[in-house]
Amino acid sequence: MRDLPGIEKIPLPTPFPVGRVNVYLLRGDPLTLIDTGVASSRSLDELAGQLAARSLDLRDIEVIVLTHGHYDHAGAAPEIARLSGAVIHCHEAAARSRSGQEKAAFSRLLRDSGAPERVLAGFEKAMSFGASFGEPLAGAPGLRFIQDGQMIRLCGMDLLALHTPGHSPGHLCLADQEHQLVFCGDLLLQDITPNPLPHFDPGRSRGRVPSLPLYLGSLDRIEALGSVKGLTGHGGDLEDTAVVARRNREHVSQRATRVLAACHENPGVTPFALALGLFRPRDPGDLALAFSETIAYLDLLEEQQRIKLRPGAGVELLAGPSKLGRAQ
Ligand SMILES: [Zn+2]
Repeated sequence: MRDLPGIEKIPLPTPFPVGRVNVYLLRGDPLTLIDTGVASSRSLDELAGQLAARSLDLRDIEVIVLTHGHYDHAGAAPEIARLSGAVIHCHEAAARSRSGQEKAAFSRLLRDSGAPERVLAGFEKAMSFGASFGEPLAGAPGLRFIQDGQMIRLCGMDLLALHTPGHSPGHLCLADQEHQLVFCGDLLLQDITPNPLPHFDPGRSRGRVPSLPLYLGSLDRIEALGSVKGLTGHGGDLEDTAVVARRNREHVSQRATRVLAACHENPGVTPFALALGLFRPRDPGDLALAFSETIAYLDLLEEQQRIKLRPGAGVELLAGPSKLGRAQ
């Protein structure tokens, strides 16, 4: 087995409730960053300081690989690429998202789901705040798209790119099978399950693709790698990614049961009211996460033909919980 290059985890500050984001510096040829953190002077100064402590400079970065396009992971990528001339590798779908369009689609979804106007105003403010910590990847210099199944050779590692949507449409995991490790972005985290944020797609009938079925498919793919070490996008490493994949699948199943039960307890409830009742969000940012979680589960339950969603109406029940219990 070849020696592993130095992989150094650098947790950088974000302004988001999730806290710090893990950026990985691969010290080899080419000098590589996996994810970059947000585009804020605080984060970039901290990254520059960490590099300086290793006698390196932001301008030395040659390659940036992005696990996904969320601004806590990718916000600073265009700026670092402009400074250094680095190439940015990401999945095509990560570069497709435009925060303006996403904000409009999310607002429309909230409105169709029963959210009052005053909530929409707070939500749009929270979205604009988030969007001020990054630049869209489309148009960034040195952008190169990675396909699912592509092998990327970096710093003595052969990284297999796995397209793993469900948290974000352009999410990639990067697996080094020789050294039994995977950079798993936000697909698997130590203490939390990632939010199955809406995968907006104007080409689809509802303007979105249900995210949880994609997430479950991504868990299957990561579990198929076997018991390997996971280097996560937030928090600590995972000793065994297969164990965490199974835990998250179980979590999805339990939460789906809970959401379905809440639909039965509140006949005709709107998705928005359901989100409030289930998660009791405290502020607009929290509310966006609670709502996207609820919509993702309702989409999953609709795919399973347990409920029917109609824009502007309450959740329609298709089968009682007891009947489902017998069917399983
Ligand atoms: Zn994310």
